[in-house]
Amino acid sequence: MRILLQFPEGLKQKALEHAKKLEQEGHEVFISASPTFGACDLAIDEAKNIGAEKLIHFGHAEFHSVDFNVEYIPYTIDAPMNLLPESLDRIKDFKKIGLITTIQHSHQLEDVKRFYQEYGKEVIVGKPFGFAKKNGQILGCDVGSAARLDKEVDAFVYFGGGLFHPLGALLQTTKPFLVVEPFQGSIEFIDKYRDIYRKRSNGKIAAALSAKNFGIIVSTKNGQYNMNLGKILKAKIEKKGLKAAILVSNLIDFESLNNMLEFDAFVNTACPRIAIDDIDRTRKPLLSANELITALDMMRS
Ligand code: SF4
Repeated sequence: MRILLQFPEGLKQKALEHAKKLEQEGHEVFISASPTFGACDLAIDEAKNIGAEKLIHFGHAEFHSVDFNVEYIPYTIDAPMNLLPESLDRIKDFKKIGLITTIQHSHQLEDVKRFYQEYGKEVIVGKPFGFAKKNGQILGCDVGSAARLDKEVDAFVYFGGGLFHPLGALLQTTKPFLVVEPFQGSIEFIDKYRDIYRKRSNGKIAAALSAKNFGIIVSTKNGQYNMNLGKILKAKIEKKGLKAAILVSNLIDFESLNNMLEFDAFVNTACPRIAIDDIDRTRKPLLSANELITALDMMRS
């Protein structure tokens, strides 16, 4: 069978090893060299262009249904659990804990839960929601398994690597939020970022109030494509007597956006994290759909 392999950046170093294994099984194997950011970003067009019958996507669980033969091989990592005893002191004032992690550590969540329970904590692990597939799993764009517990718990504990995932959950919740990062060896409440990101968002909205021309970004990545939303936002902008155009791109290139000097503001309909994490990469304000609606509501008709 002709197969295309796709790896996120951190796993590309193992691409040849996987390719050779599959070749020994008698397959004809190709490796996608394009960047990929998640299972929202399947190399289906590349696979079709080279006549592949199957795409094997490493590193992520299934995200959305597609009309192509895709096999997902999620990547799990055993994170060291030695920080858990120290983290107990940080959550000593909280009884009910909402526990979350990423797909990479979801297999360890039951052990983490049991640990906290043994020390008298009531631990709640949210059901998968939206794009997530495992209990307590969050994605950069889907933090439902945390957000839906917000009223129920006294605090959240995120167990896992990096700040990218917990930051998304932090911004959709209101309770104290502890990150236990086993790779950096850090235990840190990240609540201060709620205020920082709220101010950044307000700043973008304020800057967009004087905009006359809006560029609405629509991604052609299969799990991010949302032309309907793009058209709805365009109509809303035009109803205000302002100008808007839909900017279509597969990989959003911020230099290219910066070259589009006619636009006074950009609106993101692609990966929702772009309007949170990448706003310093455009010279003009880069709004989420909700921020655009708020800005339009604040403008005089
Ligand atoms: S956070 Fe963005 S890149 Fe990651 S899975 Fe969601 S849409 Fe894709």
